[in-house]
Amino acid sequence: MSAPRAAVVGAGVSGAACAQVLRAAGIEVRVVDRGRRPGGRLGTRRVELAGGGEHVVDTGAAYFTVSDEAAGGADGGATGAPASAAAFAGTVSAWSSAGLATPWTDTLSLLGPDGPRGSTTGPQRWSAPGALRSLVTDHLLEGLDVETGRAVRSVGVADGRPALDGEPVDAVVLAMPDPQAGRMLDVGASPGLAAARRVLSRAWDPVTTVYAVWDEPWWPALTAGFVADDDLLSLVADDGARRGDGAPVLVAHTTGPAALEHLGDPDALVAPVLERLGAVLGVASPPAPRSAAAHRWSFASPQEAHEQPHLLTAVAGGLLGVCGDGWAATASGKPRVEQAWRSGHELGRALAERLA
Ligand SMILES: Cc1cc2nc3c(=O)[nH]c(=O)nc-3n(C[C@H](O)[C@H](O)[C@H](O)COP(=O)(O)OP(=O)(O)OC[C@H]3O[C@@H](n4cnc5c(N)ncnc54)[C@H](O)[C@@H]3O)c2cc1C
Repeated sequence: MSAPRAAVVGAGVSGAACAQVLRAAGIEVRVVDRGRRPGGRLGTRRVELAGGGEHVVDTGAAYFTVSDEAAGGADGGATGAPASAAAFAGTVSAWSSAGLATPWTDTLSLLGPDGPRGSTTGPQRWSAPGALRSLVTDHLLEGLDVETGRAVRSVGVADGRPALDGEPVDAVVLAMPDPQAGRMLDVGASPGLAAARRVLSRAWDPVTTVYAVWDEPWWPALTAGFVADDDLLSLVADDGARRGDGAPVLVAHTTGPAALEHLGDPDALVAPVLERLGAVLGVASPPAPRSAAAHRWSFASPQEAHEQPHLLTAVAGGLLGVCGDGWAATASGKPRVEQAWRSGHELGRALAERLA
C-alpha cells in the first residue's frame, strides 16, 4: 500500500478541520491521534446519576462562540474578513441544522470567593446536546481515515521526505499545542525541522477540571459563571443546564497556578475545589457529591498566541504544517474553538495549494 500523501497528527478541532480541506482537495490524508477517542480538548467524561441514568460531562472547552468577523463586524470589517470566518459560521450553521450544536446563553454569572456578584452579557455561547466532542466525532471527522490510540514519537526525514515515525509522506501536519508539537521534531534530521522547533517555543498554562455529581442541585440557578479574584477557580458551569437534561452536575475549571501546583497530583484539587464551590455559589454547607473527579489539561491555553494563523514550511522534499488554537487565525487571537478550526482550515487550504 502506498503511503498517504499527508498525515495529520492530532484529531482535535484544528486537525479535523485541516484534514477535511485536504480531503476535499483530493489529497490522500490520514489523521492520527494518541487519544483513545478523537476530540482533544473538547473533552468528555461519562458519569452515573442517581437512579442509574448516565450523563456526559464537558470537561474541556465550556462552550464555543462565533465571532462577528464574517458579518464584517468591528474586526473583520476593517481589513476584510478572512474566508475562514464565513466558513466557520457556515460550519456552525451545519452543526445547528443537524442538532449537534444549540445556542445556549449570552448571560453568565459573575462569581467571587465571597459569593455571586451579578451577571454579564456577552456573545452567544453555543453548547452541544451530545457534548462538544461530538462536533468532532460526528461531523468534522466524517469520511476521514482516522487512527486513534497511536502516539507519534517523531517527525523526521526518510527517503528525502518528511516522515512520521520513519514513514515518509509528502506533508506532515501537527495540530496541537506548541510543547506537544515541538518535542516530536527530530531537529538533527533537517534544518527545516530545527527552524520549526525554534518557532514552537511558546509556553502554555495548565488547567485542572473538577466535575462532580449530586443527587439534586443545591446551587442557585446558573448557566456558567466566571470566577474573579480567586486563587483556585476560574469558571464554574452547570453541566445539566449546558446539556439541557437538568442533570445535577457542576464542572469547575481551576486557575493556571492552582493546576500547576498540583500538576503531578490533580486529584488533590478535588476536595478544595468542592469546598470553594460552596463559597463562590453563596451556599454555606453544600452536601457531599455522589461522585467527583479531576482531569488535568497540561497544555490548556497558550500564554501568547503566534502572530500568524499557522506555520507552513519546507522539510526535506516535502512540507510541515502546524496549526491549532495557539495560532492567531481570528482577529482576537484568543485560544478558542473558532480559532482552532480556522487555523486548521486555513492551513489545509495553503497546504492543498502547495501540494497540488
Ligand atoms: C479547560 C478548558 C476550557 C476551555 N474553554 C473554552 C471555551 O469555553 N470556549 C472555547 O472556544 N474554547 C475553550 N477551550 C479551548 C478549546 O478547547 C481549544 O481551543 C480547542 O479544543 C483546541 O483544539 P486543537 O485541535 O487546536 O487542539 P487539541 O484539542 O489539544 O488537539 C490536539 C490533539 O493532538 C493529540 N496529540 C498530541 N500529541 C500527540 C502525539 N504525539 N501523537 C498523536 N496525537 C497527539 C492530542 O491527543 C489531541 O487530541 C478550553 C480548553 C480547556 C482545556
